Amino acid sequence: MTTTSISDSPLPAAPAAAPGHPAAGSPLATAHSQLASAVELLGYDAGQHQMLATPRREIHVAVPLRRDDGETVLFHGFRVQHNISRGPGKGGLRYHPSVDIDEVRALAMWMTWKCGIVDLPYGGAKGGVAIDPRHYSQAELERVTRRYTSEIMPMIGPDTDVMAPDMGTDEQTMAWVMDTYSVNRGYTIPAVVTGKPLAVGGSRGRGTATSAGIVHVTAAALEEAGVPLTDVTVAVQGFGKVGSHAAAIFAQRGAKVVAVSDQYGGLRNDAGIDVNRLLEHVAHTGSVVGFDGADALSNDELLGLEVDVLVPAAVEGVLDERTAGQVRARWVVEGANGPTTTAGDEILARNGVVVVPDVLANAGGVVVSYFEWVQANQTYWWTEAEIAEKLEHRMTSAYADVSALARRQGLSLRDAALVIGIERTAEAHRIRGLYP
Ligand code: GLU
Repeated sequence: MTTTSISDSPLPAAPAAAPGHPAAGSPLATAHSQLASAVELLGYDAGQHQMLATPRREIHVAVPLRRDDGETVLFHGFRVQHNISRGPGKGGLRYHPSVDIDEVRALAMWMTWKCGIVDLPYGGAKGGVAIDPRHYSQAELERVTRRYTSEIMPMIGPDTDVMAPDMGTDEQTMAWVMDTYSVNRGYTIPAVVTGKPLAVGGSRGRGTATSAGIVHVTAAALEEAGVPLTDVTVAVQGFGKVGSHAAAIFAQRGAKVVAVSDQYGGLRNDAGIDVNRLLEHVAHTGSVVGFDGADALSNDELLGLEVDVLVPAAVEGVLDERTAGQVRARWVVEGANGPTTTAGDEILARNGVVVVPDVLANAGGVVVSYFEWVQANQTYWWTEAEIAEKLEHRMTSAYADVSALARRQGLSLRDAALVIGIERTAEAHRIRGLYP
């Protein structure tokens, strides 16, 4: 697995490469090359390309923290609104030591295309703080979250920019953001964030939505090839919020989950891993490692397993020029954002691997975020069954649109998805016109 270096030091890394010059193989380089490929297919001119490549607004804030022992440390925080032409900016808040302005720019851009592909009335945004949350207490994380929120306050709001959880943040983080924002405004404003706890206006089904969406699009892709979900073997890289629930839902729906991994190591059992029992093990130990119902396996070995479906659901850039050639799965369904670099994508395509791209495959999270926002705005909450049905419908129809375009024009699923998402964004630009 490509791991990001995890530093104990809370001191900030040097900020930001200049816009337009992302490091090769980085998430922003990948996002830019994907955009360039779609723009060429769409025949847009250089000016339109630049508009689509450039975030509308960015903010970089200092986030000082008084630690529990009294020491003061400083973190860098960012929020990027890549696009707001179809509605408010929408996207997660990430706490991870590798966060920098370029990573947040890439993630914000992917949110724009993702929201376009599943046709949500949103643009795309993302936020992050360069911190390793595993090294801080809950009280410290609460202070970081409240200070970050108050620093970016002018940019966020239920009609302007709506946050959600991402790597290193969760529903408690969203409750703190919502509370900080609401207290400063003087009344409760649940729609400023999604992915909140149910008790303060969260939605049923949000916690497992990304994972459920991954399984829906996998089933749709398999169905096209005449393969039932119950006949396939699956390997899942990453056993966090996305990967663990995806493995559980795959197993529930009759697929055989034969391998999983997390940042500490992996597991393999060709007879199928008992995912529910593994979830209990992880709840007790914090890792999949040491589970008695399977053999040990490295992250690299997992990527090269002979399975039908490989789901990278961890960090960016794991399928690159070094690892992509080892993939023996027939389908790669991207649960993470940006798990495949441009070089990796070319190798997978050459080897006939079908890639269901992140902006489609993991869109279930933001789809149910949208449902949560709609429910908060109308202050009326739907049942679990209503959410599940609406999510399945959105995901399978988005898959059908993308796949139909791919077949009609001989495109990869990634190019087809991006063409749909980018075209919807560009259409909003065109209809609205340029001010002044
Ligand atoms: N962080 C998730 C993503 O990357 C969810 C974003 C949201 O719900 O706004 O799609």
